[in-house]
Amino acid sequence: MEKTDYIEFAEKCVAEIKILQYKLQQDYNFSWYENWYYDQATGLITFSTNDTEINFKYFQVGTFSRNTNTWKWAWNNDHTFDNVKEKSLVVKDFGQNSNYTKLTDGYFESSEEDAWEFAAISAHLTNAIGVYRPVDEHLLIFLVLTEFVEKDEAQKIKDKFVNCSTHDTGRIAFVCKHLNKETKVGFEEAFETFENMELEEDDEFQAWCNECEIERQKTDGWNETSMAFADIKLVCEKCYFEMKDVNA
Ligand SMILES: [Zn+2]
Ligand SMILES: [Zn+2]
Repeated sequence: MEKTDYIEFAEKCVAEIKILQYKLQQDYNFSWYENWYYDQATGLITFSTNDTEINFKYFQVGTFSRNTNTWKWAWNNDHTFDNVKEKSLVVKDFGQNSNYTKLTDGYFESSEEDAWEFAAISAHLTNAIGVYRPVDEHLLIFLVLTEFVEKDEAQKIKDKFVNCSTHDTGRIAFVCKHLNKETKVGFEEAFETFENMELEEDDEFQAWCNECEIERQKTDGWNETSMAFADIKLVCEKCYFEMKDVNA
């Protein structure tokens, strides 16, 4: 049995989220959109009807399983990317300080009502603008929408990612056509890199082989001729670092 103050707190948050959901509908005509799509890599959730779309930044609170009637917090879920579950730790910290065990246990028997409370509490603690709950078979996925993102800005974020047939969505990286995952051909980079590093706004992962480096020096930096020789292709970040490992 949870403490009375938890129950009161949860009720307050649930009342708050109802108002937020109402506002979300007023501000964005939310229910008009037919499709939704969220992407852990970009941290964006997109709602669309035909060509019209709206985007929000989101984080994952957790998942409720209708099969097992259990709740799993996002911070306790290995399948959830770090960038979309970091914020769920705010709730855990709060739970630790307040001694609310439901907010600190990673996985336990629960109810859908509980799950809504957790989402409402998460929204409250992060000053969010709403909650969205997609369903994936028996799983209810609770997402908190943290901010609206203008279309151009959303496109800019999406453009930094690519769909890879091996690794799903990853950040984009550029390599010359000679780089591969089997043979050592050298690995020259635009700057020193490591996997999952933060990139400055204009920075991109770029690498080329020894032969391309020779061509590049011949032309005193990249020009049309050396670029044609390199014939740069786009890969995902994970592929990039697999190629780098081959050459290490
Ligand atoms: Zn090359
Ligand atoms: Zn890849």
